[in-house]
Amino acid sequence: MLYHSTRNKQIQVSSAQAITQGISKEGGLFVPESLPTISTQQLNQLIAMSYAERAEWVFSQFLTDFTSEEIHDCVKNAYHAQKFHSDNIAELSLLSKDTYMLELWHGPTCAFKDMALQILPYLLTTSAKKVTKDKKIVILVATSGDTGKAALEGFKDVAGTQMLVFYPEDGVSAMQKRQMTTQEGENVAVCAIHGNFDDAQTGVKQIFTNPEIAQKLEQHQMMFSSANSINWGRLLPQIVYYVSTYCELLKDEQIQMGEQVNVVVPTGNFGNILAAYYAKKMGVPLGKFICASNANNVLTDFIKTGTYNRIRDFHATISPSMDILISSNLERLLYDLSGEDEEKICEWFTQLNHTGAYTVDEGLKQRLQQEFYAGCCDDVQTKETIQRIFKTYSYVCDTHTAVAVKVAEDYKRETNDNRKMIIASTASPYKFANSVLEAIGGEIPADDYEQLDKLYQLSGLEIPKALAELKEKPVRFSESVDRNEMQRVVLQMLDLK
Ligand SMILES: *Cc1c(COP(=O)(O)O)cnc(C)c1O
Repeated sequence: MLYHSTRNKQIQVSSAQAITQGISKEGGLFVPESLPTISTQQLNQLIAMSYAERAEWVFSQFLTDFTSEEIHDCVKNAYHAQKFHSDNIAELSLLSKDTYMLELWHGPTCAFKDMALQILPYLLTTSAKKVTKDKKIVILVATSGDTGKAALEGFKDVAGTQMLVFYPEDGVSAMQKRQMTTQEGENVAVCAIHGNFDDAQTGVKQIFTNPEIAQKLEQHQMMFSSANSINWGRLLPQIVYYVSTYCELLKDEQIQMGEQVNVVVPTGNFGNILAAYYAKKMGVPLGKFICASNANNVLTDFIKTGTYNRIRDFHATISPSMDILISSNLERLLYDLSGEDEEKICEWFTQLNHTGAYTVDEGLKQRLQQEFYAGCCDDVQTKETIQRIFKTYSYVCDTHTAVAVKVAEDYKRETNDNRKMIIASTASPYKFANSVLEAIGGEIPADDYEQLDKLYQLSGLEIPKALAELKEKPVRFSESVDRNEMQRVVLQMLDLK
């Protein structure tokens, strides 16, 4: 299977190349030339398998330039009991009749990013061996909070790699910041920037595509790669949990084979929900995709109107991992829905760059709305939802997941669609303890760790060890710079002038 760029179909690469490179030279994203299919018979076979075995099967369909031993090793290193505190890796929990919470946060950093970032280092180092000769892989990450930590944890002390993470100084939760500034590992560094996530992401993209820097790296036997959700190696592992969840529902006799299930996703960069869309295109019987946004509702407007307009106020919300105005992975969806029209993609994304907006044509908009519903909610509604869900079901959800729950309720009310629903639960509530406590009441202790204890007293949900342990760890990274200094910070870390 080959992969081509969404902006130039002539560019065709192997999966190893796509994963190593991260983004295509001209700025496009790599997509598989066709999606493999899952038959009913195949789904039936997957039912009896473990998460890791299902992952192996899915990977083998896409990574045709990997040997089966390589795929087996990657999967074995990533999805096991020392890393995930859940036998199923992706844990399914019944919220209410017909509504399931897909808890994707039982990994080492307590957010769903672990699902992909625990395996990406293995996919990447295996890929790099195939396409480069002993080059050191330099990974730059722009993070709105969860990706940074998950990437650091995945890559720490992985031979042949070096990583630098940029995060918006005031755009992450206290726990997220502590997780990153205390990160261990000799090959990793973390730097705050004055600005928001989009500033960080734009800065990283500029460094990635700067030919002078690329040349410098080349001279020193290094190359850039990306662990952001634009990397195909991030997206592919996310397809697995939708396939696997459908199998779990079948296994538990919650659904009949072929029965469609709707999927609700709290969305930022559009990676998670896009993986669900790909799973459906492969043949998993999924229904509507419900795209939930916080006050940064650029996707809600886009799905409702067909116009993407990022010229609007940026809101720092209590669901910071969704504080995004440029949803990079949307490009892959538009490429697919436009019938792989690379010229249109170039046109729209050039417009987005220059004017901050673009409008897709009517046909595409209709296809989009057939598959997707969109809604949003603000911080007040998010907290109300956390409180209501806690009172009604004794279930504590984090601030991101609550956005999805709220939009799921709106969708049901508006449409009377009574298909069963999977709601992606993307972070442990302990990662956002402060906001969750504000929602479920009581006095909030000033100390971050006392907040964890308080939430435990109220909810009875076990505190993740990885968060409780942070208390004892020293801060290693306290640098904070302007966006225009990001380039200097990168060169400095790599000892390049
Ligand atoms: C990253 C993240 C999201 C958004 O996921 P995308 O794939 O970027 O749409 C939602 N919730 C949490 C907790 C996250 O970390």
